[in-house]
Amino acid sequence: MKEGFCLGIESTADDFGVGIVTFNGEILANVNDVYIPERGGIHPREASRHHAMVAGRVIAEAFKRAGIKPKEIDVIAFSQGPGLGPCLRVGATVARALASYLSKPLVGVNHCLAHIEIGRVINRVKDPVTLYVSGGNTIVSAFEAGRYRVFGETLDIAIGNCLDVFAREAGLKPELGKPLGAVLEEIASKGRKLIPLPYTVKGMDLSFSGLLTVALKLLREGKYSLEDLCFSLQEIAFSMLTEVTERALAHTEKKEVLLTGGVAANRRLQSMLKVMAEEHGARFSVVPKEYATDNGAMIAWAGVLCYKYGLTTPIEKSFVRIRWRLDDVDVPWFKEQ
Ligand code: AMP
Ligand code: MG
Repeated sequence: MKEGFCLGIESTADDFGVGIVTFNGEILANVNDVYIPERGGIHPREASRHHAMVAGRVIAEAFKRAGIKPKEIDVIAFSQGPGLGPCLRVGATVARALASYLSKPLVGVNHCLAHIEIGRVINRVKDPVTLYVSGGNTIVSAFEAGRYRVFGETLDIAIGNCLDVFAREAGLKPELGKPLGAVLEEIASKGRKLIPLPYTVKGMDLSFSGLLTVALKLLREGKYSLEDLCFSLQEIAFSMLTEVTERALAHTEKKEVLLTGGVAANRRLQSMLKVMAEEHGARFSVVPKEYATDNGAMIAWAGVLCYKYGLTTPIEKSFVRIRWRLDDVDVPWFKEQ
């Protein structure tokens, strides 16, 4: 296949990202603009308004960094789901407009699959058990019989959301380049006392809402220091994640563990998983932050993989899929080890 270029658009939640990659997986541009709410969590409509406002500038910047012209693009990919409807629709509309204006094929990409694929190429990992932990998702998966199977997932809120809500209630504020989870991590590193909190693993699935409720109640009671509460929240939540990942690893007998998503930046989570993976003789790796949080390059790369296997999306089928599951997607390019 001739060398080509794919432009990918990410807009599932608070990030609007545009990436340009070659068909060989070289990343030429990865530009992101994140929506930071004035207060509270992500408001889908406000985030979508942000995306619509910045889209033109982010696309122009991506072309500039990649050093190519729009007409040189061969494929347009976009995050089709899962995610917040209003946010997804902005990315989809921009992608449709670009694809039809440039007369290029369109590829609707599953966001969770894109996280795994960019990790595989960047970290040179072949066939991992992947723990994907972010503001909206908590999924333990591994390839089996044609798809990335979901071995465990959250039954309610995502781990990133759990940490963010607690941090906000504790009065913590995100800073530029330092999301709430990172602010909480810093405070947790000063905690020493492990406060008993609900540890909820059901089968292979996880639940964080009870843990959050109790942590918030203790925060309001003011009996414990914020350092000890942050420390305990992390210890309990990350132990749950490590337990489920370990069981997926023992079951599948894979030889690699891959950590990705925004929460992957957390050092404590990294160290728990590393110890666990090494005990099983598996190689542990963490996707670098730029490619672990939501980004356009991962959508572009997943777009290349789909396109090479003829998996394009006609415009009339390019409606967004708010609840599109990872295990609903065939992965024909995967070569089992
Ligand atoms: P994403 O949804 O992939 O864009 O990632 C955003 C999520 O990652 C938010 O919930 C952040 O608070 C969280 N996050 C970022 N850095 C850290 C960190 N060092 N520790 C824990 N969570 C983090
Ligand atoms: Mg995000």
